[in-house]
Amino acid sequence: MKIQEIAIGTICIPLVTPFRTALRTVDSISDLIVKITADDGSVGFGEAPPTAVITGDTKESIEAAIRGYLAPAVVGMELQDLDEMMRRMEKAIAKNTSAKAAMDIALYDLYAKLLGKPLYRVLAEGSSNGASTQNASCTGAELETDITISVDETEKMVSDSLRAVADGFGILKVKVGKGGEKDVERVRAIRQAVGPDVILRVDANQGWTKEEAIATIRAMEDAGLGIELVEQPVSYHDFHGLQSVTMAVDTPILADESVFSYEDAQRIIEEHAADLINIKLMKTGGIHQALRICDLAERYQVKCMVGCMLESKVSVSAGVHLAAARSCITMADLDGPSLCAEDPYEGGPVYRGPKIFLNEESGIGITRVPVEFACVARA
Ligand code: MG
Repeated sequence: MKIQEIAIGTICIPLVTPFRTALRTVDSISDLIVKITADDGSVGFGEAPPTAVITGDTKESIEAAIRGYLAPAVVGMELQDLDEMMRRMEKAIAKNTSAKAAMDIALYDLYAKLLGKPLYRVLAEGSSNGASTQNASCTGAELETDITISVDETEKMVSDSLRAVADGFGILKVKVGKGGEKDVERVRAIRQAVGPDVILRVDANQGWTKEEAIATIRAMEDAGLGIELVEQPVSYHDFHGLQSVTMAVDTPILADESVFSYEDAQRIIEEHAADLINIKLMKTGGIHQALRICDLAERYQVKCMVGCMLESKVSVSAGVHLAAARSCITMADLDGPSLCAEDPYEGGPVYRGPKIFLNEESGIGITRVPVEFACVARA
């Protein structure tokens, strides 16, 4: 099967409520969709969100990278040469991880369709460390995701948390990083409101200094708030700061913005600058590089989370398939589709509250993407 045509379009979906972190506020998703058509008419889909504050990728830069570099690098190639296509895209343009992810996801979707299998089975077969049934967040073809509680006034965060728990979520990802002392107060109020059984993850999104992070996390520990982990306490620039925080506190530290590439993950793991790694396809440039990080994490027995940006069902579902395929991924932060006010797609994994169910549809499973596509490369 040959790559016949590559086209792009935009999907726009309003969010249920505005999404707020230490870095930004967003009220709708407007993502680029890639559609790759093979010469037998089969179609693969990929997606990329413009997350300029994290990846540096804007809508225009994603489009330009695909149109000018990535699509021409692979159009006309045989789908069986997946590794070679990935190598050519990597060589065609540096960085631009979101654009690469959109292409990579569409190619994996198409490749799994060529094999007539769901993507997670294809990814598990390619590894000696396929998902085990001990995998807490990911037993077989079912995952449990957390849901994000945006950073806001304490009262609002408490009411958002109570609503999420009422909706069935047992794991909350609480966004903080806007004032250390206030952050302790926020998390304390949420813990008091939701009770002891709800799992709380805290994400500072680089919002603290090293000193502030150590003081804040210790204060949460002293108050017995029962935090499962703290994500990205300090700036991604501050490797030694991250390492110092990890050494100074008992709560496990999860590296997010600090880990884009395999090399980032390797340094973090080997120098113990964090305890856990958050893999996001938009940082790694797609599944191909994410699998390398999984190999590394499994070798060092480091547990990983699979996360997403503000993405809808196409690329989030690629993350779902990855999580189901690899044993190192024990935590899922794949709440993008739950934050969307509507689901415009057909097919693919089913998102029901905190649960995500995979099925046996081939590829990622999504069969209909209602956007207008424009061709950017044709064989
Ligand atoms: Mg994060």
